[in-house]
Amino acid sequence: MIRAGVLTLQGAAPEHALSLRAAMREEGQEGEVVAVRGPDDLEGLDCLVLPGGESTTIAKLLQRSGMMGPIREMAASGTPMMGTCAGCVLMAKQGDDEVKRTGTELLGLMDMRVSRNRFGRQRESFECRLEVEGLDRAFPAVFIRGPVIEECWGRCRPLAYFDGKAVMVRQGSLLALSFHPELSTDKRIHRMLLDMVPRT
Ligand code: GLN
Repeated sequence: MIRAGVLTLQGAAPEHALSLRAAMREEGQEGEVVAVRGPDDLEGLDCLVLPGGESTTIAKLLQRSGMMGPIREMAASGTPMMGTCAGCVLMAKQGDDEVKRTGTELLGLMDMRVSRNRFGRQRESFECRLEVEGLDRAFPAVFIRGPVIEECWGRCRPLAYFDGKAVMVRQGSLLALSFHPELSTDKRIHRMLLDMVPRT
């Protein structure tokens, strides 16, 4: 029985919940998906998704709800997490001038520097087939004003590139993606997250 959380403050949370359920079904894994709105919802989670949306807004809501500290502790203790798009921005240790200008507090979980809104404006969203390390076939990746991972260091390693820039990285049991795997019918990236949960 796996207990997966989806941060549900703003943004694409319901799509991630559906994707996690589908991924559990594909894996033949029993489990439940919890909508995380406050620190109490983090109790007993085996993994957590930080969805896309607006990183500025999500950061403010994380501060207000008192979840910055508890999420940092969970990551430090090895709980698998996946941040997509705005979630990827929040997982970074360093942001760009836009992050600084808006005074956005990052969770700072991963050894990487990100630039926001680097893949076009909303109407220029696009889909492409992306080669991802660890997946046997290309992944249909949907980009919606996603961040670019400009640089990663330490234990943070790129798993996929687009236009010469890293768009998916892994650091231990933490994954960060510039794109939106919850908008594809392909559930292999959500399964990757579930596979990082130690089975007892
Ligand atoms: N532009 C958003 C941000 O940086 C991310 C967009 C998204 O999550 N689709 O917060």
